[in-house]
Amino acid sequence: MKKFQNYIDGKWCDSSSQQTFENRNPANKNELLGTFPKSTKEDVEKAVQSAKKSFESWRLTPAPKRGDILRKVGDILTQRKEELAKIMTKEMGKVLLETRGDVQEGIDTAYYAATEGRRLFGHTVPSELNNKFNMSIRTPIGVCGLITPWNFPLAIPTWKMFPALLCGNTVVFKPAMQTPETATRFVEILIEAGIPNGVVNLIHGAGSEIGNAIVEHNDVEVISFTGSTEVGKKISKSAADTLKRVSLELGGKNAQIVMDDADLDLALDGVLWGAFGTTGQRCTATSRLILHEKIHDKFLEMLLTRVKKLRLGDGLLSTTDVGPCVSESQRNTVHQYVEIGKKEGANLLIGGEFATEGELDNGWFYKPTIFTNVTPNMRIAKEEIFGPVLSVIKTSNVFEAIQILNNTIYGLSSSIYTKNINDAFAAMRDIKAGIVYINAPTIGAEAHMPFGGVKQTGNGHREGGWTVFDFYSEWKTIYVDYSGNFQRAQIDS
Ligand code: NAP
Ligand code: MG
Repeated sequence: MKKFQNYIDGKWCDSSSQQTFENRNPANKNELLGTFPKSTKEDVEKAVQSAKKSFESWRLTPAPKRGDILRKVGDILTQRKEELAKIMTKEMGKVLLETRGDVQEGIDTAYYAATEGRRLFGHTVPSELNNKFNMSIRTPIGVCGLITPWNFPLAIPTWKMFPALLCGNTVVFKPAMQTPETATRFVEILIEAGIPNGVVNLIHGAGSEIGNAIVEHNDVEVISFTGSTEVGKKISKSAADTLKRVSLELGGKNAQIVMDDADLDLALDGVLWGAFGTTGQRCTATSRLILHEKIHDKFLEMLLTRVKKLRLGDGLLSTTDVGPCVSESQRNTVHQYVEIGKKEGANLLIGGEFATEGELDNGWFYKPTIFTNVTPNMRIAKEEIFGPVLSVIKTSNVFEAIQILNNTIYGLSSSIYTKNINDAFAAMRDIKAGIVYINAPTIGAEAHMPFGGVKQTGNGHREGGWTVFDFYSEWKTIYVDYSGNFQRAQIDS
C-alpha cells in the first residue's frame, strides 16, 4: 500500500494537516489502493501562490514550445496507456475497454492542443482611420482552478489542463477523492514531459473544503468544474464574489429515441452501450429510452434478452461487461431511485437490486435495471440517477418523442435512430441538447469537437474542440496608429 502526496511548487509534499484519506477499489472494498493527503486551506494557499508565481514565466514561454511539452505528454500517455487504464479500473471500476478509451481521449486531447500552439489565431481587421492598424490577440489569463469528477479520471482533467496550459495559464488541480491515483500519475507524466515547477499544482482532498477554497480565492482567475448540477450551482454563487470566469459541465438525463423505421439491431447495441457502459455513470449516459409504439414490444423483448446476458464483475477481467458503482453511497442513490420508480407506478422489468452473488458481494455492484410504462413526468424520467437504470417511455410520433426528450432540466446528449431523413432533421433542429447523435448512442464524444450542454447542464461554455481555447484565453484588442496625426474614431473617419 502506497502513501501518495500533493505536488506544489515542483515538490511532492504532505498536507499541512498531516491527515490522509483512503482510496479503495469499488469492485473489492477490502482492497486498499493507497492513502492520500487530506489537504487544507493552507495547502490551497501554497498551491495558488506557486501557480501565481510561475505564471510570470510560463505566460512568456512561446505557445509552440508549450505545445511541444504537451506533445511529449501525449507520447508518454501512449507508452503508458495500459498501465494507466488498469489503475483507473481499480480505483473507479469501469471495464478496461473503457478506461483504455479514457486514456486515448487524453492522448487525442494532448496532440490536438499541441498543434494549437502553432495556431491560437487572433484577427487583424481594417481600421476605419488612415494609417492605423487593428488587431486582436489571445492572452493568457492567470491561475486556473480545475475541479474534476471521478467518472473520467484522466480524460476530463486533460480536457481542462491541456488547453489551459497551452494558452499560457498555470493550474491548481483538485481531482475527485475517488480517483486520486490516476490524477497523481497524470501529474507525474507532466513532470516527466518537462512542465516547469509551479505551473501545475496538485492538491488532494474534500471538495467542500479545498474545492471551495480554490473557488473563493482572489488570485484564482478561472474555474473549470465538471460534476453535479448541485455543486455547480454552489460554485457559480461563490465564484460571483470575485467575478471569475467559470465553466460548468454538469449533469444530464439523456435519451435515445427509436423510431419505427429504425435498424433495431443497431439501436439495440446503442442503448446497451449508452445505458450500461460505465455502469450508467456517465454524464452522457442513456437514462431514458423513447420507443415508437409500433416497435415498442418487439424492441423491449430484444433488449431484455441482451440485458440478461450482461456479466457483472471486476472491470479488470475480460469477461466483465458491467463494473460496480463507484461507491456505497452512489449505489444507495441508485437504489433509492429504483424505490421511487416503483412508488411512481413504473413497471420494474429487470434488476432493481444489489448484486451480491459470490465475489460481487465485496463490491458496490447493482443489477442492470429497466423500468417500463414510464411516463414523462415521473421523477425517474426527469432526474439524473447516475447508475445502471434505464426508463422506457412509449411514443407515437417523432414530435412527441422530441417533446418527451426535452422534458428535463438538463440538455447534454441525445440520440435518435431512424432511416427517415425528415425525422432526423427535425430532431437535429428541435432537440434541446448540446450534442445530438443520429443513428449512434448518446455516448461517443470526440476530442476535437465542442462538448457541453444547454439548460442546467452547464453555463454556456464548451470543452473540447476549437471552442475551449476561447475559454482559457482573454482577448486583447490592439490599435496601432502610424499616421503621426491625432485621429479620433467616429469623429475624424
Ligand atoms: P460532484 O460530487 O459534484 O464532485 C465533482 C468534484 O467537485 C469533485 O472533485 C468534488 O470533490 C468537488 N466538490 C464537491 N463539493 C464541492 C464544493 N462545494 N466546492 C468545490 N468543489 C466541490 O460530482 P461527482 O459525484 O464526482 O460526479 C458525478 C456528477 O458529475 C454527475 O452529476 C455527472 O453528470 C457529472 N458529470 C458531468 C460531466 C459533463 O461534462 N457534463 C462529465 C462527467 C460527470 P470530492 O472529491 O470531495 O467529491
Ligand atoms: Mg463526489
